[in-house]
Amino acid sequence: MKNIILTGDRPTGKLHIGHYVGSIKNRLKLQNEGNYDEFFIMIADAQALTDNADNPKKIRENILNVAIDYLSLGIDPRKIHIFIQSQVSALTELTFYYANLVTVSRLQRNPTVKQEIKMRDFANSIPVGFFTYPISQAADITAFKANIVPVGVDQLPMIEQTKEIVKSFNRIYGDTLVEPNATLPTNEASMRLPGIDGNAKMSKSIGNCIYLSDSEDELKEKVFRMYTDPLHIKVEDKGHIIGNTVFTYLDAFCEDSHFSKYYPEFNNLDELKEAYQQGGIGDMKIKKFLFNILNELLEPVREKRKYYENNLEEVYNILKEGSMYAQSCANETLREVKKAMKIDYFFEDNLLNDYK
Ligand code: ATP
Ligand code: MG
Repeated sequence: MKNIILTGDRPTGKLHIGHYVGSIKNRLKLQNEGNYDEFFIMIADAQALTDNADNPKKIRENILNVAIDYLSLGIDPRKIHIFIQSQVSALTELTFYYANLVTVSRLQRNPTVKQEIKMRDFANSIPVGFFTYPISQAADITAFKANIVPVGVDQLPMIEQTKEIVKSFNRIYGDTLVEPNATLPTNEASMRLPGIDGNAKMSKSIGNCIYLSDSEDELKEKVFRMYTDPLHIKVEDKGHIIGNTVFTYLDAFCEDSHFSKYYPEFNNLDELKEAYQQGGIGDMKIKKFLFNILNELLEPVREKRKYYENNLEEVYNILKEGSMYAQSCANETLREVKKAMKIDYFFEDNLLNDYK
């Protein structure tokens, strides 16, 4: 079996460090290991429009932002096809056919969509497109016959839904589609990085993000106002680790090597946690440490970003070529799907041949 990787992001804003630890770090690892036949990254503009129908300008603007974020992080367009979802029309067609295989009650049970509906205050005005986006995501994944999908943990229900669609399709119409598997981060804190406000998830739509493109000053300001432990008032007070966002970020980003560079009093995170819980370590100290770690990660990204911002045509051409290539691959799957569904009337005069 071929190894095909597909993943993506909604162009609802610039990418944040939750995207990095939740999914992009795994993409870079997979890219560098090189153990795949095809690798696609999709900028999910059509999906982003399902809850931003009244703001197409925002989606359009962020397409280049997201592409520049990818390239600045080291996504290599010679190894990975980056494409824009709306430019691959086969995806919308597949969505329509897959919709027949999913019930309304099944969609209502999707925990991520449920939570997103609540967060967006849709009440009784949930757009049908938003409600059904897990079906369109199944189309995105299966159109490329992707079997590996590196995502954050909030995407697990979408992968489950995709598997169910693949199973139903193959049972009814014959073996055509491939079942995908999610590749999650190995680190617990990275699966769903909280926002700087301590909110359950860092999300563009909530506005509690540290962006990959934040300047050193913006980063400092955000880290220093991060939610820590409200009971840790004086330095000598015993501190709590659980629910302390700075420590969750340290769990996600800190490596032992950071200590010798930025905090030589300790050798590793376990030692620092122990000392913080005993009392005697101020929040400013741990915030400074976290700032240094994040700044070391973001500094080279800022440099590469400058290059791409000055060479927008190069980014544009990468997206254009990627989208054309993706279109041709997805068309091939659509052809197979239509054949399996017996709606391939005009391929080789099929309909006419039935009557001969
Ligand atoms: P939106 O608020 O518009 O949904 P988002 O910040 O949730 O934006 P997406 O584009 O929906 O970002 O998600 C892209 C990928 O990043 C998905 O694989 C998702 O699981 C992952 N991801 C997003 N936010 C986080 C997070 N806070 N921690 C870990 N992974 C995340
Ligand atoms: Mg999201």
